[in-house]
Amino acid sequence: MQQQEGYGYGYAGQAGQQQQQQDVGGATQQMGQMGLDGSAPVHARRKKDRHAYHQIEQPAGTVPQGGPGGQQYLDRQPGQASPAVGADQAAAPWMQTTQPWQSQTLPQRAAQGPAQVGTPVSMGQHGGQQPAGMTQGQQARVNPDQMPSVPLSRDLPAEYYKTHIYPTMEQHFPPPATTPFVAFDQGNASPKYARLTLNCIPTSHDQQVSTGLPLGLVLQPLAKQTDGEQAIPVLDFGETGPPRCRRCRAYINPFMLFSNGGNRMTCNLCGHPNQVPEEYFAPTDPSGVRVDRTQRPELLLGTCEFLVPKEYWSKEPVPMRYLFLIDVSAESYNRGFLQGICDGILAALYGTEEESTSNGEETNGATEAKPSKVPAGAKVGFMTFDRSIHFYDVSASVSAPQQLVVSDLEDPFAAISPERLFIDTAECQYNVTHLLRSLPNMFARQPFPEPALLPSLNAALSALEATGGKVICSLAALPTYGPGRLHVRDKGQSATEDNEREFLRTDHAAFKKCQADMVKAGIGVDFFLSAPMGGYLDIATIGLVAEKTGGETYYYPNWSYPRDCLRLEKELSHTLQREQGYAALMKVRCSNGLQVAHYSGNFTQHTFGADLELASVTEDSSMSVTFAYDGKVSVRLNPVATKEERRRATHVEVRLAFTLVLLDERVR
Ligand SMILES: [Zn+2]
Repeated sequence: MQQQEGYGYGYAGQAGQQQQQQDVGGATQQMGQMGLDGSAPVHARRKKDRHAYHQIEQPAGTVPQGGPGGQQYLDRQPGQASPAVGADQAAAPWMQTTQPWQSQTLPQRAAQGPAQVGTPVSMGQHGGQQPAGMTQGQQARVNPDQMPSVPLSRDLPAEYYKTHIYPTMEQHFPPPATTPFVAFDQGNASPKYARLTLNCIPTSHDQQVSTGLPLGLVLQPLAKQTDGEQAIPVLDFGETGPPRCRRCRAYINPFMLFSNGGNRMTCNLCGHPNQVPEEYFAPTDPSGVRVDRTQRPELLLGTCEFLVPKEYWSKEPVPMRYLFLIDVSAESYNRGFLQGICDGILAALYGTEEESTSNGEETNGATEAKPSKVPAGAKVGFMTFDRSIHFYDVSASVSAPQQLVVSDLEDPFAAISPERLFIDTAECQYNVTHLLRSLPNMFARQPFPEPALLPSLNAALSALEATGGKVICSLAALPTYGPGRLHVRDKGQSATEDNEREFLRTDHAAFKKCQADMVKAGIGVDFFLSAPMGGYLDIATIGLVAEKTGGETYYYPNWSYPRDCLRLEKELSHTLQREQGYAALMKVRCSNGLQVAHYSGNFTQHTFGADLELASVTEDSSMSVTFAYDGKVSVRLNPVATKEERRRATHVEVRLAFTLVLLDERVR
């Protein structure tokens, strides 16, 4: 994935034409034109509109009215040459001065004269204007109408993006993170996958020091696409893999610069001139663009997936395996959490309870009654635990579910072969349904009060060790039995700041070892925790396993049956049905001028600079990167721009290698 942020607003021309050539449909056509001829007032309208709420920094009078400077400041974007832009704006409902929330004297009303076409505005100018604006602003009183409005700056873009597409390379500010939008990939990754924390990056050292703003990147590599977005292409470069920079290992991307008639490929991240591999060679045309550019998604799109050659596989990829680990101890049974979990899993696998009930009656005993809701090819397995660990054989080879008990908590093992433990939910629907319906009653007679969590997690680990996968674990009481038992750390003593902080950390060696082993095996853990009586659960310790494996912890404080069942059901369904991969490795690379300073999120990183290890990665997984400025943020050429179209650009590559639910190893 490539995220590239550019400044220098003279972008247009050839780049736009290139985009036009690679039309994939009507939408492309539309987008290509927007950046070219300025006949697209829609963007201009939005642009103005958005700036209207940044006016507090430059009150009336600071901006030269209608002058080029002011115009640039307000509307730095290409292709808004037409005077019709202004006219169109006036027609926009939210630009009417009669709106109660809007000032009668907004400066940009006056600044609606003909705009300068694509006049470059450097960050220097931008930054330089700020202090001037602030000084003069102090002379006038702040007009409350000009205060930025959070609801408006949220709602207006939301309204706008109901009918418009967001093009990723046309120098528009990205839509707010809360706004649903359709992105059109023009070579930059969509803000859905990678979003910078600053829309304007200070380029000079002085600006970086005086603004003091940290720069970060928020990543959601597998973010769900919306309708209307082009599917991410999956590219197969065979045994050799995709072309990469020999020095920094950056993947081929739209910003690699081809020269020497197509023989040389200059890396956009490190500047290393690479020899183009023979099998990837294509001549360049007189303007320096590869003739096959329009046929190659990796040279056009900001987000691509590459199939990884076999030699890089850590293990043979298999379809996703889910292992349910269900707490059947007394508290879980008594409070209905067990019932809720079983109902929830049934609904997640086969649809809601009503549906499956009626279905079960109709087909009574038939196995392929209803299509399973888990992703095709995925398999599931079931385990329960209280003082001992129970495995279930619900495979099609048995007529009724069979239970195998492991009571050796010191050295727990998988009591059942993976072939019998992990089953296809559609094939074995009868047994699965039978098991989940009877589970709550199976443990009604003699419930043990103390769940043994850690041995159960280790047993799950041994069951999934060979393949990787996901453990979905429920727990309703503090695990106080067996190895790795936890105790009440918070004794309700006088809470000082220090010991309070202590409760949020853990140094439980056994849990840490379990978590490290899970990461090594590519196993993610999602927890569903409840404390029915508001009791103490050491979530800092338990949740660590989910945190470090890239999983999630759902917590139901004061669980009440049946009040919370719907929520549990929905969250279980989402956990199971969303797109996800396992055993992922991630790395962020950036060009000269920036350095990765820090990663934050749910993952494991052994040493600084090493790849992030995500035992589980889902469409919801996100992490963030903090950058440190390392000298001047560099000025680079857009590969398809001419010299006049020099852009300030800093490139960031995000590589995520992962094994998808049902597919092969990939790099996005
Ligand atoms: Zn490089």
